[in-house]
Amino acid sequence: MSGVDDQMGRNGPDNEVKQFARRLFDARWPVLTAIAVLAAAVFTAGLPLGFAATGAALVVLSAAMLQPRRPVETAAPKEEKRSPVWPSTSMKSVVEALPQPCFITDGRGIVRYANAAVDQELGAVRPGDPLSFKLRMPSFLEALDRVAAGKPAERIRWSEKVPTERLFEAYITSLEVPSARRGRAGPHPDFVLVVVHDLTEQHRLERMRADFVANASHELRTPLASLTGFIDTLQGPAKDDPNARERFLGIMRDQAGRMARLIDDLLSLSRIEMRAHVRPTDPVDMTAALTHVADALTPLAEENGVVIEKELPADPLIVRGDRDELVQVFENLTENAIKYGGSGGRVRIGARRVRENGGPERIAVSVRDWGQGIAEEHVPRLTERFYRVDVVTSREQKGTGLGLAIVKHILARHRGRLAVESEPGEGSTFTVWLDSGESVAKDSNE
Ligand code: ADP
Repeated sequence: MSGVDDQMGRNGPDNEVKQFARRLFDARWPVLTAIAVLAAAVFTAGLPLGFAATGAALVVLSAAMLQPRRPVETAAPKEEKRSPVWPSTSMKSVVEALPQPCFITDGRGIVRYANAAVDQELGAVRPGDPLSFKLRMPSFLEALDRVAAGKPAERIRWSEKVPTERLFEAYITSLEVPSARRGRAGPHPDFVLVVVHDLTEQHRLERMRADFVANASHELRTPLASLTGFIDTLQGPAKDDPNARERFLGIMRDQAGRMARLIDDLLSLSRIEMRAHVRPTDPVDMTAALTHVADALTPLAEENGVVIEKELPADPLIVRGDRDELVQVFENLTENAIKYGGSGGRVRIGARRVRENGGPERIAVSVRDWGQGIAEEHVPRLTERFYRVDVVTSREQKGTGLGLAIVKHILARHRGRLAVESEPGEGSTFTVWLDSGESVAKDSNE
């Protein structure tokens, strides 16, 4: 039935009588005054009774006709008066099963249910409170109002700066539930479902990935630009200059070597990342592996006037892992100690068994130098990709800025831990903790 038919249907004969009575009631004071005046005229001025009665009837009729119509009250209850509706148990259990914070509000934005993830991620909220007590961003509240007024579902993003920078996205949609709708009318949906996603971590990873690609391209572009420049010079002004050609070819070899090292490190990093979730389990003797590292780096140490000291036990120290990757970790740390801490003249590689607070046995391997050390503010960032304390020194030392990032990833795969202690002017100690082979074997048997 259309709106007009509906209106006509409600205006039947009964309703017309009611309307007439209602209008008359609304005009009662002027009507009573006119009748009182006519009565007074009958008694004092001798107005004929018939004339006065006709006058009174005309006053009553015209007052009722001139009074504006009052809207007819329908049987449907008014929106504002409706009693709160509550989500059903099945609706709550669906929302409870979702991992993201979810709210169910009624059509006026009052929280009717919030799942456990809301408590954990956003803090407790009381059913019966407006959702705006918990999520206050104006853009979010406007979107909630629109959906609560019967508009289509919306997805809305906002960021918060305090106490820490966080990015959120909320999906807001109306829910129509036939059992809740019974006997109710109006544009408001029965419930509004709000699902909140915390995008902070995802956004940080996206930014890191974008930064990584930009940094890697920049690192490759610099030697490439240098190579192109020298090729142009050799084809042009230095074409017939054998001395310049020799010198330039030497620089070009260095630049090509830098690009090759960078590509090797990038490939190494991506190989380790691909296997990040698989824990390597081969038994590796760290005493033998560290002796190999010291021997392999002795020529570099001699070149830099550094002596490598070993403080290793006589018996094997077994850990579970990937030998090549563990050798790569300690080669990187020892090479750094020689390159950046070589001014102290010595580097010490030590390994020992440790057992903390009755916990399982672990192997601690440390690489110590007595060089210039690292200022405190740089220490937490050393394992970031392409982070260097001093870019020029790193380039001179054939560094790529990826060595410690590779160390971190290999250790994560081995469930190991890296700690850096450094005092400017006193040198640095990089210590790695690995589970002892015996304790890993026991864990996996349990
Ligand atoms: P790089 O390829 O530049 O050596 P790394 O990731 O191995 O990259 O190291 C990052 C930076 O940490 C180095 O550029 C250097 O500034 C600093 N660093 C690493 N080890 C030491 C050390 N033993 N002493 C002083 N600085 C160090």
